[in-house]
Amino acid sequence: MSRSLIVANWKMHFNIHDASLYVHHFNKALNYHRSIEVVLAPSLLTLQPLSLQIDRRKVRLAAQNAYSKDDGPYTGEVSFTMLSGLVDYAIVGHSERRIYFAESLELIRDKVTAAIRNDINPILCIGESKPEKIAGETKRVIHDQLITAVSDLTAEEVKRVNIAYEPIWSISTFGGEHADPTEIQKTIDYIRYQISELYGASTASEVRVLYGGSVDDQDAGGYLALDGCDGALVGAASLDYEKFVSIIDTAQSIRLAKKKD
Ligand code: PEP
Repeated sequence: MSRSLIVANWKMHFNIHDASLYVHHFNKALNYHRSIEVVLAPSLLTLQPLSLQIDRRKVRLAAQNAYSKDDGPYTGEVSFTMLSGLVDYAIVGHSERRIYFAESLELIRDKVTAAIRNDINPILCIGESKPEKIAGETKRVIHDQLITAVSDLTAEEVKRVNIAYEPIWSISTFGGEHADPTEIQKTIDYIRYQISELYGASTASEVRVLYGGSVDDQDAGGYLALDGCDGALVGAASLDYEKFVSIIDTAQSIRLAKKKD
């Protein structure tokens, strides 16, 4: 069983001072579990100072975004090349970027490829909107987003991609509807099936699939207990370090329970 991955997406919250204060408290409250990988995705600006404040054996950093080119005349952008060595992960294709910044399937594919090229593990977000769900298009949307995003990768490279299934309607930004874990199970299975169709069952078993969408300390266990759910991408609840620590501890309890089964 690969390590579970629990990621805090702070979005555009916390300036340098607030971020540092959070990590100060978080470091003290965090219980270290060998089988849980904990990742913080703060704003770009705070990555550097936080890298000096965290213990990298216990906490890793992720960028929330980066550009697909390695360098060049792209005013305002930061490349994966520049982030290399500073972060271990990068969120790619978050629905806020797809919707607010009109990121296309092809741009997201190029970002995934650039992350891998620069030795950064992508956390690829995919998920359907409410109208797409109602129209019965969840599988088609997932298929198109997933297949395009990994289309430049070899099987070895795809193992480094972490896929976060985040139905748009369940994300706090877009309504935060509570998702029924039984429904989520079906899509997690479908995602792994798609990877297996493309790269074979052995590769598919090594790709981590996470769930994200208004996960908090009260309901995290319901998602983390799902078969093949390897972690969670947490937005709003991760802004409260006590809640985030509680989600990490839940992930550990669920692992122990899964092991006993
Ligand atoms: C996210 O930002 O990826 C997310 C899932 O946010 P929230 O937990 O706030 O819905």
